[in-house]
Amino acid sequence: MTPAPIVRFAPSPTGRIHIGNARTALLNWLYARRTGGRFILRFDDTDVERSKAEYAASIEEDLAWLGVEPDLVRRQSQRMVFYDAVAGKLKSSGRLYPAWETPEELDRRRKRQQALGRPPIYDRAALRLTAAERAGLEAEGRKPHWRFRLDPGTVRWTDMVRGESHIDCGSLSDPVLRREDGTFLYTLPSVVDDIEFGVTHVIRGEDHVTNTAVQIQLFEALGGKVPAFGHHNLLTDASGEGLSKRTGALSIASLRERGVEPLAVAALAVLVGSAEAVRPVASLDQLAGLVDLGNLSRGAARFDEAELDALSARTLHAMSYAAAAGRLAALGVAGPGAEAFWLAVRGNVSRLADAADWLPVVEGDIAPVVEDRAYLDRAAAILPGGDWDETTWGVWTKALKAETGRKGRDLYHPLRLALTGRESGPELAALLPLIGRARAMARLSAPSS
Ligand code: GLU
Repeated sequence: MTPAPIVRFAPSPTGRIHIGNARTALLNWLYARRTGGRFILRFDDTDVERSKAEYAASIEEDLAWLGVEPDLVRRQSQRMVFYDAVAGKLKSSGRLYPAWETPEELDRRRKRQQALGRPPIYDRAALRLTAAERAGLEAEGRKPHWRFRLDPGTVRWTDMVRGESHIDCGSLSDPVLRREDGTFLYTLPSVVDDIEFGVTHVIRGEDHVTNTAVQIQLFEALGGKVPAFGHHNLLTDASGEGLSKRTGALSIASLRERGVEPLAVAALAVLVGSAEAVRPVASLDQLAGLVDLGNLSRGAARFDEAELDALSARTLHAMSYAAAAGRLAALGVAGPGAEAFWLAVRGNVSRLADAADWLPVVEGDIAPVVEDRAYLDRAAAILPGGDWDETTWGVWTKALKAETGRKGRDLYHPLRLALTGRESGPELAALLPLIGRARAMARLSAPSS
């Protein structure tokens, strides 16, 4: 039996996440959901200057709002001893070597190589230093950075999104894994953790494709099992610009504050740039069934905010009472009539909070608009008795039509104005039983406005 998949979303907590980050998180989480796997939230917070605990907290909050609940949360800042130990091992096996070039020196060499028409690859000069030269540099108090010695040859993998992929390691510089000050760049801690947590599938943005060959070599050097990789296309904004955590544009927090539905954000975040049409979904489970990494397109996926608002409204129009009940209760929509109320008004809201605007119509005071006194008097006179339900409106207006000869807007609109005080709104067939006979009678008999 193949073990259940383990995936991870590994943001660095240096800002609030945006819809593009949510795409990565969701593609991982939905994959776990569909396959019965586990989802790890790993904070890549080794950069102590830029990482902030409050950003990590806000990322958890934003993910929870989307419905993404991690099975495990880990922080790299608490795992430094493991990275140290692994670096030590790689050092003793000769895969990690010290190099002393300054950035200026490296830059000079790159320019020289380019001028000669050669690829700007690190020339491994540090590996050719004699013991005496090395001792000299150390005696000067110079601290080295540490590079991973790549094996020559081509690394191949079958990408879950992009299919057969390969990178020729001869075209890469030996990557720096550790800086002069002892801090690690992202690569080594990431691989150490992927091994330690048994990650089986690394699903991330295609900006990481070029890291994959190095990471596969590192997995192998550490004797770890190489996971499957899937690199999804990146979201851009409507004008084709990449998204940035720094600007806060399209942050999940800003969408939440704007009253956009989380399921609409999730659906758009993963369906845009895929073979599936963007559509409203009723649950993340339904969305999980629509997402197939093999169906993502290779081009950039353009994210249109206007599309999001429309999708959010459509998500609400089809939302069951059960799905909305918790949030409706917070708006004061609760109790026995709440479900009928929601079903009556949901088609007329663009944000869930708009539902509360209709509460006064069914249970409070409104200012009826009286257009034609005599007509409303007739209407009031034949208002049906007994228990009201969704058929009452039809029975009533049919009788009114027969009696007055009115039809269409002339028949209905004065009733809407009187009963709701508004020009437009939900179906009156659904609203009328919620308004109830006493209130309807009072509104039809209101003094002329
Ligand atoms: N911290 C990295 C990032 O946010 C993680 C990349 C990965 O998933 O391997 O880009």
